[in-house]
Amino acid sequence: MDFRDTIGVLDKKGGVKRMYPKSVDGVLFKARNAFGLTLVAFLFAAPFVQINGQQALLFNILERKFVIFGQIFFPQDFYIFALAMLTFLVFIILFTVVFGRVFCGWACPQTVFLELIFRRIEFWIEGDANAQRRLNEGDWTTEKIWKKTLKHTIFWIVSFSIANIFLAYLVGTAELQKLVTHSPLDSPTLFVSLLIFTGAFYYVFAHFRELVCIIVCPYGRLQSVLLDNKSIVVAYDFVRGEPRGKMNKNEPASTPPKGDCIACGLCVQVCPTGIDIRNGTQLECINCTACIDACDEVMVKIGRPKKLIRYDSIEGITQKKPLRFTARIAAYSTVLVLLLGLLTYFLLSRKEVEMTVFRTQGLLFQQPDSLTISNLYNLEIVNKTNEKLDLVLKVKDGTVKMVSQDTRISVIGQGTVKTSFFILIQKKDIHSYKTKLKIEAYDANGKLITDAETSFASP
Ligand code: SF4
Ligand code: SF4
Repeated sequence: MDFRDTIGVLDKKGGVKRMYPKSVDGVLFKARNAFGLTLVAFLFAAPFVQINGQQALLFNILERKFVIFGQIFFPQDFYIFALAMLTFLVFIILFTVVFGRVFCGWACPQTVFLELIFRRIEFWIEGDANAQRRLNEGDWTTEKIWKKTLKHTIFWIVSFSIANIFLAYLVGTAELQKLVTHSPLDSPTLFVSLLIFTGAFYYVFAHFRELVCIIVCPYGRLQSVLLDNKSIVVAYDFVRGEPRGKMNKNEPASTPPKGDCIACGLCVQVCPTGIDIRNGTQLECINCTACIDACDEVMVKIGRPKKLIRYDSIEGITQKKPLRFTARIAAYSTVLVLLLGLLTYFLLSRKEVEMTVFRTQGLLFQQPDSLTISNLYNLEIVNKTNEKLDLVLKVKDGTVKMVSQDTRISVIGQGTVKTSFFILIQKKDIHSYKTKLKIEAYDANGKLITDAETSFASP
């Protein structure tokens, strides 16, 4: 049980061990490569795609403006954002309960960039695991200097590109373009941020690497509480594989039969987190599937069926049980469906122009003349569209009188306006000391744009 007390990427003194995983090229790697590179292409393209005149995806935390597929979300929509995050979290939990860390191996940006881009560049320049080890442990020859220079230069360029895209998501492509086409002194904060992000990405992908998954990522830590014997994970079929042992053609026929594992160690050599999956599910396993591909290759060579290491549950291996719809899955699914329903409702009922009306605090009502009662209101209009709006307020059975001279309220695209107005109602039309009112805002063409409810106080 030594493996439970140690981490594959640390030595006995707690120092970080450099990992030299062997390169793999199996069916799953090819599928993961195609999927991962598609994700990278999407990630790099999305900020430059325009929908409804907006950047397709924008997460401007500083200005509290978020755009998702052309829809602008303001701080007023934060509840939708919070609900979307909660739904995503439940989805991830449900997904993990059923399929383990599939997300880590196939879609996590850390794995995708590290395994499919940075590690591939390293293989291309420095060769496979043994060549890399020899190069690192050898003297500084001319070959070592140029290989290291080339590799780290490309790593910096890729990190710089990722940092640019990261900024495009945070501040928008227009700001990024300004930074690229003008002197850095014109946008010093952005320029320094770009350098910091570039350095951070370079450090993570060139040096820190799989330690992110093992000691930083909170999702990895959650595995121990989310996985059970029914979860599908990358697993070694110990029923079929054990007792393991080297193949020996000269063994006498009386030798007891061995399992399918020939103890070649290839599954360990390809593992980027340095673990032996034959010891069982471990915290370090990011479900990268490299050991599946490696073992399949071995099985083909020795004429045994593939999938000695495969996606399966512990119950699947020991009892040959297929995945079942358990009570836990049913509970998570119900919560997920409810959250999705709520999210859909909020998204569909979300207004593009939002109006909030409050009766001014400290003032109950005024009597401008013997026949009329008036109330003073504060109003805020948030225009989430790109168009400028000129609005006129109307109220049934009453008259709206703006505090300012202008009877129209102008709100620029993606802008907010705060103002005050009176509502005057004839005494004969008032039947209660607190009357419910609906304030409606019409545009210049007489089209109802938005409305809000408030109350009218009277003696
Ligand atoms: S690659 Fe397969 S056969 Fe080789 S040690 Fe691993 S499990 Fe055993
Ligand atoms: S055990 Fe297999 S799936 Fe898990 S990280 Fe190692 S190589 Fe990847």
